[in-house]
Amino acid sequence: MMSCDLCNSIRVLEIDSKASDCHGWVYMGRDGDGYAPHVPNVCGGDYVHLLVCLDCGKVQGKFPVVSEDLAESAEDSDATKHFWDNYGNVEGESYYLGRLNPMHITDAMGRNVVGGGSGHLLSPPCSKEVECFFIDLHPDANWGHGCLYVLIDPGNNMRVYELKDSWPPHHSIEGVKITK
Ligand SMILES: [Zn+2]
Repeated sequence: MMSCDLCNSIRVLEIDSKASDCHGWVYMGRDGDGYAPHVPNVCGGDYVHLLVCLDCGKVQGKFPVVSEDLAESAEDSDATKHFWDNYGNVEGESYYLGRLNPMHITDAMGRNVVGGGSGHLLSPPCSKEVECFFIDLHPDANWGHGCLYVLIDPGNNMRVYELKDSWPPHHSIEGVKITK
């Protein structure tokens, strides 16, 4: 029988749920519905997998979840593989920004990267949520400078949208650096 990794209680509840694209979530002021974000010890894609101690409340597993952990789960995904297939030769630093509603992707100036202040419109239209990547084309230079937002639409045969911009993502979007 397993026991809590903090208080040793054996009153640990394990929950396994599969909801495919029917998850709802909120994180740092953003929300989404569809697939669950990839977070070690908690959830990812179709699944929620949680072990919770009913005595001390500790969620089992290693915390804090740091950005390297998030990057590791991001690097395993089909979307990331597709990203590298298309952008592996581009010089710069690449980041995974998460599965986001494209209308919620804002840059450091608070402008919508898609359709808003920066003047981009997606054509053809994409799904309600896409996998979002960011490439800093000149990581050693001060902002603003050339950068790319790359949206990959798993609901649409991995269609790739590329948006040129000159500012990094807004601070409310937690990007994790990924390497090939
Ligand atoms: Zn406990």
